Amino acid sequence: MSSQPDNRGRMPDPLRDLLVKEADRCVACGMCLPVCPTYGLLREEGDSPRGRISLIAALARGELEPDAGLATHLDRCLVCLRCQPVCPAGVRYGTLIDGARALLRRRGVASASSGWSRFLVRTLGDPRRARRLSRGLRWYRELGLQRVARATGLTARLGVERLDRSLENRPRSGWRAWYPPEGERRGEVALFVGCTGGLLDAGTVDDAIRLLTASGFGVHVPPRQGCCGALARHEGDPEEGDLARLRNLEAFDGLQVEANLFLASGCGVELQEGVRGVRWMDPLSFLEERWSSAGVPPLRPMKKRAVLHLPCSQRRLREGGEGVLGALRRIPELEVEVPTLRHGCCGAAGLYPHRQPEIAARLGEAAVEDLWLEGADLLLTTNVGCALHLRQHAPGLRVCHPLSLLAEQLN
Ligand code: SF4
Ligand code: SF4
Repeated sequence: MSSQPDNRGRMPDPLRDLLVKEADRCVACGMCLPVCPTYGLLREEGDSPRGRISLIAALARGELEPDAGLATHLDRCLVCLRCQPVCPAGVRYGTLIDGARALLRRRGVASASSGWSRFLVRTLGDPRRARRLSRGLRWYRELGLQRVARATGLTARLGVERLDRSLENRPRSGWRAWYPPEGERRGEVALFVGCTGGLLDAGTVDDAIRLLTASGFGVHVPPRQGCCGALARHEGDPEEGDLARLRNLEAFDGLQVEANLFLASGCGVELQEGVRGVRWMDPLSFLEERWSSAGVPPLRPMKKRAVLHLPCSQRRLREGGEGVLGALRRIPELEVEVPTLRHGCCGAAGLYPHRQPEIAARLGEAAVEDLWLEGADLLLTTNVGCALHLRQHAPGLRVCHPLSLLAEQLN
């Protein structure tokens, strides 16, 4: 690479060069527009994949200043990547949006993230800090401080109402390193809990361990694992994202297991794409595969109607959503439907509801309308972020991970 300045007097920059090269592959055909949730909702070219790509190209070439208007269009992207598989030119949109956000961050242009969101990204990236946060939040709930903060309006004044509402479940800071299988031993697996498992979804972790051990698997929970890094990467901090990948590779590499299983499909995409050399799978696709050959543990019937929401991230996993649906259909008498969302995405997308609350709420409301079929008893989803978001738009409806339902039906 040349170390001479270009005709604008700027020194070579590998990130800018990568963005220009990738954006140049776009032929502006517009085939990505109909699948983009933000374009579907806002009908603005700047909020479509094609529009964002041309903004990113102009930013990287130095033809546009990184002002607040440009940052807003990029910030409104959900990074759902629904636009990527439909692109006939094979544009890697994910590389473009993550790179552009990193470029903006380098230039000191803040995203719409609140200080709390940035604090969360930094804290969740470090397992020791995440454990301390989890302990602190447990005290916050158990000493009654949460009740006081809500009653006095402190959460509203600090702008953390949404974050506070996410703390429905009791946070936990750790699990045993290994859980033995029940009955006949069929193998060993490892479980990725990540940062959300302990903080927001401890019950689902317990349910996964119950279901896996009842199916004959010893379950390892490597203690040195941490956040998958997706939050940091999508917030424009690729260095923190790379550190997270390395940390998890070290935590999971060398375990004598058949597969490494994750609970949240959002983490799964990051792990499958970034932490190579170990086999990552969603737990229900894994179990469905193994149950087909080795038999299913006895499950009690459930005469209910469930709606399964397959998050954008679940659809992006190598195994897709077939295994999840297949595993759920093992529950006798349970009816399961998989409706289509008019905008594709429910609006959860990591910290998106904190960064873009209005768009996230509109997408969430539309999603619940589309998912809420007359007489549905349960809403199931494989991503904790989607579960938290949909719960806020569907009060009164039980929303949980499908594996929790399977664990509850064990005899
Ligand atoms: S589908 Fe691909 S080539 Fe066509 S506008 Fe979208 S990103 Fe560009
Ligand atoms: S990632 Fe999602 S929101 Fe962003 S441009 Fe693509 S389809 Fe639209």
